[in-house]
Amino acid sequence: MNTINQLDTTTAESADTVKTIDHWINNAYTEGVESSVERADVTNPATGKTTGQVAMAGQATVDEAVAAAKAAFPAWRDTSLSKRTQILFRYRELLNERKEELAALITAEHGKVLDDALGEVMRGLEVVEFACGMPNHLKGGYTENASTNVDVHSKRQPLGPVAIISPFNFPAMVPMWFFPVAIAAGNTVVIKPSEKDPSAVNWEAELWKEAGLPDGVFNVVHGGKPAVDALLEHDDIKAVSFVGSTPIAKYVYETATAHGKRVQALGGAKNHMLVLPDADLDMVADNAINAGFGSAGERCMAISALVAVGDIADELVDKIAERARNLRTGDGTRGTDMGPLVTSEHRDKVAAYIDAGEREGATVVVDGRQGEFDADGNGYFVGPTLFDHVTPEMTIYKEEIFGPVLSVLRVDTYDEGLELINANPYGNGTAIFTNDGGAARRFENEVEVGMVGINVPIPVPMAYYSFGGWKNSLFGDTHAHGAEGVHFFTRGKAVTTRWSDPSHAGINLGFPQNQ
Ligand code: NAD
Repeated sequence: MNTINQLDTTTAESADTVKTIDHWINNAYTEGVESSVERADVTNPATGKTTGQVAMAGQATVDEAVAAAKAAFPAWRDTSLSKRTQILFRYRELLNERKEELAALITAEHGKVLDDALGEVMRGLEVVEFACGMPNHLKGGYTENASTNVDVHSKRQPLGPVAIISPFNFPAMVPMWFFPVAIAAGNTVVIKPSEKDPSAVNWEAELWKEAGLPDGVFNVVHGGKPAVDALLEHDDIKAVSFVGSTPIAKYVYETATAHGKRVQALGGAKNHMLVLPDADLDMVADNAINAGFGSAGERCMAISALVAVGDIADELVDKIAERARNLRTGDGTRGTDMGPLVTSEHRDKVAAYIDAGEREGATVVVDGRQGEFDADGNGYFVGPTLFDHVTPEMTIYKEEIFGPVLSVLRVDTYDEGLELINANPYGNGTAIFTNDGGAARRFENEVEVGMVGINVPIPVPMAYYSFGGWKNSLFGDTHAHGAEGVHFFTRGKAVTTRWSDPSHAGINLGFPQNQ
């Protein structure tokens, strides 16, 4: 069995050493081919300690990784589906056996609590399981005698080397929305994970090698904008799957499509929870806490705006506040409810949003700027924060905060609530809480959001459905995984066949017509 050599969080931390985090090309680590290697610090957000130094790729290292993916493509494309999926099944088994290792790595660099990190791994595992069924997903159509003695069939073929560019907030799962499907469909991959928590993808790369994936099929380059730009503009990259903030998603979409690639670029979010007066308010309060403060609000499907309809708001705010005050925030390895934010800059940005909310007149019901945090060192903590009487003009409503800040807005009617949600420029996820089936059905039809929950606050679709938002939450038209994911990573071909047949002999320069 291979050892996961760069990735041992416990020894690196206990020995107070800073580990080296390198690129992964052709199934081996490399610090890249630039003449001098640039590195960026990776920290443990719960302690503020630097735990790693990640190599930052420039054009030359990206070229090297893409060349490896290009060289590996013909043989991988021609590897039988049975052999390809056997490697996928092996990967699934290894991942399932060793999921705790990956969860520990996520917590060490992202900060989310261990249980949540494990949940992330399990949701990624679902996509691997979906991709194990690739022979079924790739079945084409066949029409016999479309014309006399003419048959037509369709097939879907892989694209070639594809790029994946992922955000910090799900360092293991978001890459797994894409790479199992891309690889099983016969593509080769160059992935550029977030430079803030890069080790999870290296771990996944080592696991691929152990599962038997040939050299060059899965490559990792670390870095920031220069590495991303090199991928977006590279002639040999055929498609780009991006997940991150809206301005960067838009930039990635525009740049990569201008370079002739197919692109799916998933962006930011502002997710609303609409609560009707007939809802069970204790259940709503529990769900608002889980969806607002899980992973310290650093989820693209986090609920950040709760829209209370009618006269339930006072009672509901009391119930949420009581629960929020009882949450334990601290180091995610200590059984806490909520971990730190990812960097000190992000912590300061979230605190500045809370200042702005207070200044602009919202009521601070629970203030996360104060509080005790269960951690050693200088972690990047903000506690759960609850605002009431938030209005659509306020900065805390208009912008994505991406922290543990939940805003309550009050409206009089369902229609007013729906209008608010539909007027928002984001459209990733939303939820309605009600016991009225008719109202829920109306909401499901009328809301302009890509993923809808009915009494489910974070409606992340299963792997065999597709994940994606509307409006400024997605650039491009194809969602991740499920049928749309298979479609994204393949292109269609229609083949028309006629075998030698005397009835078709003779010269005819006319356009072929059905016979
Ligand atoms: P980000 O946009 O800062 O970074 C995402 C990726 O883009 C990273 O790999 C980063 O290195 C790269 N990048 C950053 N700046 C760049 C630039 N100027 N040019 C080129 N590349 C650049 O996002 P983040 O902070 O890592 O992640 C949080 C964001 O991601 C939030 O907005 C969140 O809503 C969003 N997100 C969306 C989804 C979704 O499914 N819609 C899922 C997860 C996260």
